[in-house]
Amino acid sequence: MANATVIEIEDMITVGTLAEKLMLPVTRIIGELMKNGVMATVNERIDFDTAQIIVGELGLDVELARKPEAAPAISTRVKRPDNNKGVTRPPVVAVMGHVDHGKTSLLDAIRSAQVARGEAGGITQHISAYQITHNYNGVGRAITFLDTPGHEAFAAIREHGALLTDIVIIVVAADDGVKPQTIEAIRFARKAGVRIIVAMNKMDKEGANPDRVKQQLSEQDLLVEEWGGDIVVVEVSAKTGKGVPELLDMLLLVADVEDLKAEVDLPGTGLIIEAHVEQGRGPVAHALVESGTVNRGDFIVAGGSYAKIRNLESTDGKSLEKATPSTPVVITGFKTLPEFGDEFTVVANEKLARIQVAAVATDKKSGGRTEVNSNELIRMINRNNKIEEFNIIIKADVQGSLTSVIDSLKALDTDEVAVRVVGSGIGTITENDAHLAHTTNAVIYGFNVSLPANIRQHASRDKVSVRMYKIIYELIDDVKVELTERLAPEIHETDLGRLIVRGIFNTTKNEVICGGEVTKGKLTFPALARVMRGDEKIADVEITGLKRGPAETKEVFEGEMCGMSFHSTSRVDLVEGDRIELFTRESIKRSL
Ligand code: GDP
Repeated sequence: MANATVIEIEDMITVGTLAEKLMLPVTRIIGELMKNGVMATVNERIDFDTAQIIVGELGLDVELARKPEAAPAISTRVKRPDNNKGVTRPPVVAVMGHVDHGKTSLLDAIRSAQVARGEAGGITQHISAYQITHNYNGVGRAITFLDTPGHEAFAAIREHGALLTDIVIIVVAADDGVKPQTIEAIRFARKAGVRIIVAMNKMDKEGANPDRVKQQLSEQDLLVEEWGGDIVVVEVSAKTGKGVPELLDMLLLVADVEDLKAEVDLPGTGLIIEAHVEQGRGPVAHALVESGTVNRGDFIVAGGSYAKIRNLESTDGKSLEKATPSTPVVITGFKTLPEFGDEFTVVANEKLARIQVAAVATDKKSGGRTEVNSNELIRMINRNNKIEEFNIIIKADVQGSLTSVIDSLKALDTDEVAVRVVGSGIGTITENDAHLAHTTNAVIYGFNVSLPANIRQHASRDKVSVRMYKIIYELIDDVKVELTERLAPEIHETDLGRLIVRGIFNTTKNEVICGGEVTKGKLTFPALARVMRGDEKIADVEITGLKRGPAETKEVFEGEMCGMSFHSTSRVDLVEGDRIELFTRESIKRSL
C-alpha cells in the first residue's frame, strides 16, 4: 500500500473516534468488530492493534500509525469548541496528586474557609463536588471543585466527550516532592488537555523544600513561571489555610485567560458524578451541569434512568429553582439509580424520557446494538405536521444490507406518509428491541437475522409486530403496504338531485320530516345531503327515508313530489324554500 493514507491514532481509541477518522459510519466499525468477536459500543475504547486489524479487514486504503505522546508543553491544551459561546461560567476544578500529599485536606480547607465566612456549621460529610464564591478583585466569583476520589473517576470524567474539568490542581507536598502518583496525575491532566496549577502543600512543615519540588517539576516538563515557564505554583498549607486565597485567585486568573463560556438558554446537559440511595429520599444523584439550564420539575434522562426532578439542591443542601453551567447539584426523583459517568439531558416530557431510557437500555444490552435515532424520536414526539408516520426498527445481518434497506425505505417517503426508523442495528432481535418497539409503537423488521423464541413471546405479549424477511424487495413491499394504508383515501362525491322544501311536518333535535319537489336530477336513498338556504349551507345531513305518497321508495325523479326524512347532528330549523342537495360519497384507496 504505497499510496495509502496514513492516519495517526493514539494507543487507545474509542470506536466513535476511529469511525470519525476513517470517515465511516460508526455502525460499520461496530459491525466489523462484531465479526471479529468484539462487542463494542460507540464509546468503548479499543487498542491500536485491534484498530489495525479492523482497518485491514475493511480493506481500506489506509495505514494506521501510532501518534507520538502529546507534546509536554501546556500550550497543547485542546480548546473545547463549546467554551466559546454563551455566557461566562465558573471554572470546574479537580484536585489530584500523590497519596497523603493533602488533596482531601486542601479541598476541606477551601470549603471550610467558605463555610466559616458564610453561615455557621462545619464540614460534615464528604461530597462529590461543591461550589464556593471567592472574592476576586472586589467581585464574588464562583469556582466549582470536583472531589474526584482518584484517577479512575477523573478518567471517567475525561472520557466524557465534552470534558468537564477545566483546571487540575496538582497537589505536591513540599516536604516530599514529586512522587509516582504526581507524575501520573500530570500525565492525566495533560492527556485531557486541561490547565495545570501546582499547589505546593504543607509549606508549614519543617522539611518543606519548594525549590527541590520546582526542580522535580521541571524534570516533568512543568516549568514554573519564575523559571521562565508558564506553570503557576502556589505555596499553600491546607493545615493553616495560608496561601489558599492566593490559590483561588490563580484559579480565577487562569479561568479568565481561558474565557470559559457555556450556553444557558438550552435544556440542561451534564454528567452524573455520584449516585446513591438515601432512606426516605430514594435515588439521589449528584450531577454537574455542563451547559443549558436545569429546573426543578424538569424531566431528565441519565443513562438508563430518568427523573422528574423532585428536589434540586446545591451540594450543601440549599434548595434551588434552577441550575446553570458548572453548577454541582443534587437531584432526587430518579426512578432507578443512575451511574457515575452517565451523561444527563433535560427532555421535554415524560414520554420522551421513557423512550430515551428504553433506547439506552437497547443500546447497552443488546448483542447486536441498536442505534437509536434520537432526531427521529424527537421529531416523532414533537411532530405537529400532518405527516402520517410509520415507525420501524430494523435489524440486519450486516451493515451493508442494513444501509441499503434503510436507504430504500427512505425513498418511499411522500409529503403525506413517511417511514421513521426509530432504531436500527446489526444482529439478532433482542428483548430491548421489543421494548423500544412497544414504547414507540413501532414494527420490528428483521432482515436475514434470527428471532429467538423468548423474544417472539415477549413481542407477542406486548402486541409488537415482528416481521422477518430474507428478500429485500419483500420487506420493502411490506412497508409499502403499511404506508399505503396510512395514506388518506381519496374522497369522491357524486351529485344526485335536488329537492325544494314545500312543507315541514315534524322536527326534533336530530330528525326532520319534510316534503317538496324534485327540481333536478334523481333522489335516491341512502344518501348524504347539504341543506342550502340561498348561497349558504346550513347543515350537512344524512337522508334516512324517501316517500312517494304514503309508500316508502328508493328513488324519486325530477318533477315529482316526495316526502323525505333526514338525520342531523345538530338541530336544523328548516323553512320553506330551503334546498336539499343529495349526493353520495365514496372513499377510494390510493396507492403510493
Ligand atoms: P490525600 O491523601 O492527598 O487526600 O491527603 P490528606 O488530605 O488525607 O492528608 C494526608 C495527611 O497530611 C493528613 O494527616 C493531613 O493532616 C496532612 N496534611 C495535609 N495538608 C497538610 C498541611 O498543609 N500541613 C501539614 N502539616 N499537614 C498536612
